[in-house]
Amino acid sequence: MAYNKFRGDYLFTGTTLLDNSNILITNEEGVIINIAPIADAGDDVQTFEGIITPGFINCHCHLELSHMKGLIPEHTGLVQFILAILKQRHATEDEIFTAMQQAEESMLQTGIIAVGDISNNSLSFPQKQKGKLQYHNFIEVSGFSPAVAQMRFDAAMDVYNTFKKYFPNHTSLVPHAPYSVSKELFGLIDNLKDNPLSSIHNQETPDENLFFLSGEGQFNLLYETIGVDIKPFYNPSGKTSLQTILPLISKPQKLLLVHDTFTSQSDIDVMKALSSVQQAIFCLCVNANLYIENKLPPIDLFLQNSCNIVLGTDSLASNYQLSIMSEMITISQHFPHIPLQSILQWATINGAKALEMDNELGSFQAGKKPGIVNITGLTKDGNIYKESKAKRIL
Ligand SMILES: [Zn+2]
Repeated sequence: MAYNKFRGDYLFTGTTLLDNSNILITNEEGVIINIAPIADAGDDVQTFEGIITPGFINCHCHLELSHMKGLIPEHTGLVQFILAILKQRHATEDEIFTAMQQAEESMLQTGIIAVGDISNNSLSFPQKQKGKLQYHNFIEVSGFSPAVAQMRFDAAMDVYNTFKKYFPNHTSLVPHAPYSVSKELFGLIDNLKDNPLSSIHNQETPDENLFFLSGEGQFNLLYETIGVDIKPFYNPSGKTSLQTILPLISKPQKLLLVHDTFTSQSDIDVMKALSSVQQAIFCLCVNANLYIENKLPPIDLFLQNSCNIVLGTDSLASNYQLSIMSEMITISQHFPHIPLQSILQWATINGAKALEMDNELGSFQAGKKPGIVNITGLTKDGNIYKESKAKRIL
């Protein structure tokens, strides 16, 4: 059998950053054989500058919005951003298909191997069927008026069934956000059988908490603009958005909380006390946070609480690229005290576990086929910075 042998300045296993005395050995297809000391690795070792790492997992993306690159200005705040998406997301199917194809290609080239992707419709299905990247499909449903709950649920179930047939283990039906899903609609989602992995946009703007605490702020403008009269059915709970919706989840599940820019210690405490959320996963999309709100999530708070962290890119409507490498660089620049090993774990093994793909992806464990990526352009002390690049090498 022919082997591939990779040596970098560093070898990141998925959990641990090793030095250059360790050689990664795979078969021709990229299935991991083992990690051997240089003395035992034999001939034909390929040497690379920088880090050899497993492929990255992008836990939050909206492939179907790829045609919206550059359309929405930065720093509008979330509500103006949502209004712009609603107004401008329409395009011809050709434009949407071409943009999705290009977006996938750039994810592949920058070392992403799997994606947790939000779908509001079936437009991304033909592209995903090509199997270039692995997907967990989060079919997303919204509707704040209780009157539309059943209708929206039924429409989303049509999309869900399309994906579920082809991706039986990697399709979920999920709520969009606390401010856009009624109690009734939450109930319908909660009742669905065999839906143990969920995701929700969480606390992306201060107005989200304000809307639930006191009923004030920009979300009133959102509903006014789209012509939904919320007065007859909406009463603020007096709690944060996250604390308001958590009791609406009754089935045990793994929940990806996406963004978490305004999540607090009390939110984390309330969540830890719940039995329904068996695993809360904090999915950071820092470049999108800077794009929309110009604010970063409280990553140190998540670390102090030993939270499970993964990374996402969000869509090209709120990001200049779909690159986990770029997300890692931004985190490293703004939080230089966080060890690179931790950030790499979030980008690889944590993401693979979150999307239930860790039997094959996320680390260099024997038998897995996680993709092999080379990070080049490190600082003298082996850290990543804005010039660092990631490239798939197998
Ligand atoms: Zn999103």
